[in-house]
Amino acid sequence: MSGILKEQADIPVGTRFRVFPQYPGEPGFEEPAVIVLKPKPGTIGSGPDDGRLRVIDAVAKTRPYTGLEFPPYRGTVHAPVAPDPSGHFDRVNPSQREFKAVHAYACLRLVLDIWESYLGHPIHWLMQETFPQIEVIPRVEFPNAQASPGSIELGYALTESGERRWFALSFDVLAHEMGHIILGAEVGISGAHLSAEYIAFQESMADLISLISVLHIESFSNHLLTATNGNLYAPNELNRLAELSPTSQIRSASHNITMLDLPFRYLPRARLTQSQLHLLGQPLTGALFDVLVEVFQQQLVEYGAIPEALARLSMQHGPTADDLARIDRGFSSHYAVRPEYFHQALRFARDFTAERLVRSWELLKPERLTLLSAAAAFLTADRAISGERYQKLILECIQWRKIAA
Ligand SMILES: [Zn+2]
Repeated sequence: MSGILKEQADIPVGTRFRVFPQYPGEPGFEEPAVIVLKPKPGTIGSGPDDGRLRVIDAVAKTRPYTGLEFPPYRGTVHAPVAPDPSGHFDRVNPSQREFKAVHAYACLRLVLDIWESYLGHPIHWLMQETFPQIEVIPRVEFPNAQASPGSIELGYALTESGERRWFALSFDVLAHEMGHIILGAEVGISGAHLSAEYIAFQESMADLISLISVLHIESFSNHLLTATNGNLYAPNELNRLAELSPTSQIRSASHNITMLDLPFRYLPRARLTQSQLHLLGQPLTGALFDVLVEVFQQQLVEYGAIPEALARLSMQHGPTADDLARIDRGFSSHYAVRPEYFHQALRFARDFTAERLVRSWELLKPERLTLLSAAAAFLTADRAISGERYQKLILECIQWRKIAA
């Protein structure tokens, strides 16, 4: 048993919160899930504030910090949210304004707990001497979300009907922004000139951090497996990332984009748009999502929960409509027999991917980081953990995406 935070249920004493694994009101996610964070009841103060993350509910912050303004926030703020008498925060009602502050904190802290468990050490923030705490502002009047040293600021997305959907209520966006903070601390940031591939790497990894984190919320995994019968390549809430993306772009982890589909990849960073920088990281996200799904299916075959022929059929690229129907029928019938094996295999694949990701980050230097070096580091990390066993599977996923020099 490693130090990994396996399941929420494994934390007997911690502080209770309620979070929405998907934006409130999405079908199947009408009610928030109770989660337990590592800090003991009584150790998280009003804010919430645990000394490392501190929520500041600004009254009217109209723009995020720029390179010239820094935390702490000096404007008018709403009263910090206090815990209940036993130290928990799960009684705050989702319809209250205070819920955004508590929800943002809970999701960010959960992601931090999860990745510190995988890393095996506490994360030392980038520029921690200057910014000992990450200031979290749950409501900034801007249509975006931003993580910078010392702060995470959350704005909103406008829906087609003009309604504001606040990122403080979006687990995916919160986890993605905390992902940037974790990567800044663990991989580092190269001086003044961030390359296009470094930015693409950050976006890809932040998406993967989000995707792996949400799998730690049991109600989410249950919903996912029930809705797909364990066929993770079917469109679902796991591979459809950031429906509320700050770039108003629906990204997906399950896609067929290879580097050859991105002819702009050789352009200098200054000529790339924000959305092209995100796209550039998609083949890496796709490759590592494929690794997760293939390891999941390989486990299922090993448990005897699905036949190998079904796993092979589902992993081929460009299946016909007939194939898709057969895959669907196959997963439905096998999931119905032994659903518990699917849950076990999903936890295995989740931790498998995360453990290799954190080891790969140790091997990367921000100055020379390329998408190829990131993929190669994942492969090297895997060899260090389990020798040759998964090398071919991982290499094929990377090669198929044409991630090359
Ligand atoms: Zn991002």
